[in-house]
Amino acid sequence: MEFGARRHLPRSKMTSQAAILCAIYHFGPVKRSQIAEYLGLTMPTITTNVNDMMTCGIVRETGLTAPQPGYSGRRARPVDIVPESRHFIGIEMQGTRWAICLLDFRGKAVYARNGESLHQDHSENIKFVCQMIQCAVSACGMSLEDITGIGICTPGLVNRTQGILEMRVGCNWSNKDIRRDIAALSGYAGPISVENNACARAYGVQLFQPELLTEGRSFAYLFISDGIACPLMPVTANPVASVVGMGELGHMIMDPEGPLCRCGNRGCLEAYSSDWAVLTRCKQALEQGKAPILRELCGEQRLSMETIIAAQDAGDRDVDQILRQAMYVLGLAVVNINNFAGPSLMTIEGKLFRNKANQDILLDVVQQNLCSVIRSHTELVFVEPNHLSGAKGAAALSIFRALETYDP
Ligand SMILES: [Zn+2]
Repeated sequence: MEFGARRHLPRSKMTSQAAILCAIYHFGPVKRSQIAEYLGLTMPTITTNVNDMMTCGIVRETGLTAPQPGYSGRRARPVDIVPESRHFIGIEMQGTRWAICLLDFRGKAVYARNGESLHQDHSENIKFVCQMIQCAVSACGMSLEDITGIGICTPGLVNRTQGILEMRVGCNWSNKDIRRDIAALSGYAGPISVENNACARAYGVQLFQPELLTEGRSFAYLFISDGIACPLMPVTANPVASVVGMGELGHMIMDPEGPLCRCGNRGCLEAYSSDWAVLTRCKQALEQGKAPILRELCGEQRLSMETIIAAQDAGDRDVDQILRQAMYVLGLAVVNINNFAGPSLMTIEGKLFRNKANQDILLDVVQQNLCSVIRSHTELVFVEPNHLSGAKGAAALSIFRALETYDP
């Protein structure tokens, strides 16, 4: 990233050490003089702190910068983060699916697994997650003390300050103290961050794909699974405290007379365009003797989004109609977000968009319904659905926390 591309390191709450480490993380490899200029600190302060960080092994010098014309003195060696100096665990608990990853400081996955075995019982899930944490550290030849932070994300309304899942539609969970339960059962004494899984994905983009973002602008992460969320955040170097609400878009009412949603209201976006809604409609179509291609592809297997998209690609008209309706209502929601908040970028992740046809339908609906008086429109970017994006986002949150609270 170009030095100075991000001007808003929120230093007020950080110590000088944390601010220096943060600058090295986001701009490294970077020269000491640039850090001094950027943070408004003196060269001796930078030199002392950087030396301390090098002694701790969290920062190191890298290759020499290019020679400046007409300058023959000693050239400054830039400094950068040591990726293997810190490790973080990220976990996503999403319905019955789970994913875990162990990342180095720069986000490289040293260990990653995902599967489908969670169930409705919260304590059983906590037990399972703690076993997964233990498996991950053992597989990497580490112990829990080697882990700088653990991030956990889940669908639903999360109180991120207290680490509590306040409410989760679909499995009647309320006030589950995830942070306390994991700490107690795993014996992990370090920081545990708990976050909504769409917000976690947004952190993942902020930390690992900053090239998608423009400093000082805002972006939204539209995440479609069994629910639909769309956290909106300003682009800053430290986004953790900056998410605007939880982005629970799924329960925005699109038609008060519409179909019943899992939350008990009628006509929520989620009741039209979520994976859950599409799966329910396709099941109904099969029960009514419709969707012949889907029936053939599915056979005796359990109905999945992958099979539904394959049936649409193979020309199943009933399935196509269900997906077109889902895209239509989702497109209107995207237009509403654009008109209301106008983020400069919206990344979109969902299994519905595994084929280009649905991406095109959505873009078409958006194009046709955008308000013509609003001049700047949101750029839409589809993100390949990935089993690990939630877990990596949760780990990204832990990395942000470790940077802002750095204290050797
Ligand atoms: Zn609802």
